[in-house]
Amino acid sequence: MSLLDHYQNTLDTLKKQGNYRQLTHNEQHGHWLTVASKCMLNLSSNDYLGLAGQSELKQQFLQQNQSLMTSSSSRLLTGNFDEYTAFEQTLSSAFAGRSALLFNSGYHMNIGILPALANAKTLILADKLVHASMIDGIRLSQAKYVRYKHNDLNHLKQLLEKYHDDADIERILIVTESIFSMDGDEVDLHGLVMLKQQFNKVMLYVDEAHAIGVRGERGLGCAEQYAVIEHIDFLVGTFGKALASVGGYLICDEIIKAYLINTMRPLIFSTALPPINIAWTHFMFERMQGMQKQRQHLQHMGHVLKNEVMSKGYDCLSSSHLVPIIVGESEQAVQKSKQLQALGFYIMPVRPPTVPKHQARLRISLMASISLHELDALVDVL
Ligand SMILES: *Cc1c(COP(=O)(O)O)cnc(C)c1O
Repeated sequence: MSLLDHYQNTLDTLKKQGNYRQLTHNEQHGHWLTVASKCMLNLSSNDYLGLAGQSELKQQFLQQNQSLMTSSSSRLLTGNFDEYTAFEQTLSSAFAGRSALLFNSGYHMNIGILPALANAKTLILADKLVHASMIDGIRLSQAKYVRYKHNDLNHLKQLLEKYHDDADIERILIVTESIFSMDGDEVDLHGLVMLKQQFNKVMLYVDEAHAIGVRGERGLGCAEQYAVIEHIDFLVGTFGKALASVGGYLICDEIIKAYLINTMRPLIFSTALPPINIAWTHFMFERMQGMQKQRQHLQHMGHVLKNEVMSKGYDCLSSSHLVPIIVGESEQAVQKSKQLQALGFYIMPVRPPTVPKHQARLRISLMASISLHELDALVDVL
């Protein structure tokens, strides 16, 4: 018996369950995607505003920009280039003058901030469906940890009442996303802030990965849309989705920023992103703020698609540009996704463990560059 057998057996089990994953080669052109020489409408992208495919923007940026391709160091050594401080300054001005701190990715951000903030006297209350990066961050921390029912503020309130006066707990962190990626539904952010304000040991951590660029007048996320930027202690998001770049950000109090620079391991022990990358994100962040039309179109299409999905008899909680069709078993999801791909629509199946058992789904992710006409064609084949 070889030492590799164990791993091969695990892979075989995944194949039997229909949960085996592979890396597929693809080519993207705007909101179209070619896989194995078949061209399809891309309904699985995180490029929500359709910015990644705009070559004029890239040309404009490259003409203006001579930033470095490498940083070769953590920001605490020699990697703290002007591009970093300039972009943090822009973020800070956009977000009501609060402090801003940049990270290499959303994943680094969540696995780094949470362990730095939480010690053994911290209780973390996290939504049942938060992203894997927050779960991993919580696991790396010393905190006690309880998950509340997805989007259920009553359950959260019960837990707060139960634990708040516990003498062993110095602070409670509520951890959630604003828009959730698998159901496309959103938290009642205003209600959450009101709830937090009833308790004096409670701080709020909100991940806007799917809302930055997409929500709010200037695209600053649900926190802007519901006018609560100042009330979220840790407002985080990523540049890997609507901003067509890579990296993460935190909006917080200046004390927290200084604290993280001193204690957050992925910030201290990993090479910072190349300055040219930060300059690109900065460039995109400034353009993104004026894209109200794209945001409205995206929201409108999400609404139309959700109504169509529901009219076919599927439950759908979405209130965003992310619209799932929950079909049940993994095999069904894989089968249906193959059929849709054959018809020219690139829609990926999402299976356990990414979603709960028996809730495998087709996840449709809209982009602002898709036209209503193209959406109609999709609706016709559903
Ligand atoms: C995508 C995502 C991340 C990870 O961000 P990356 O920048 O891709 O590492 C973190 N949180 C949420 C909610 C996400 O959807």
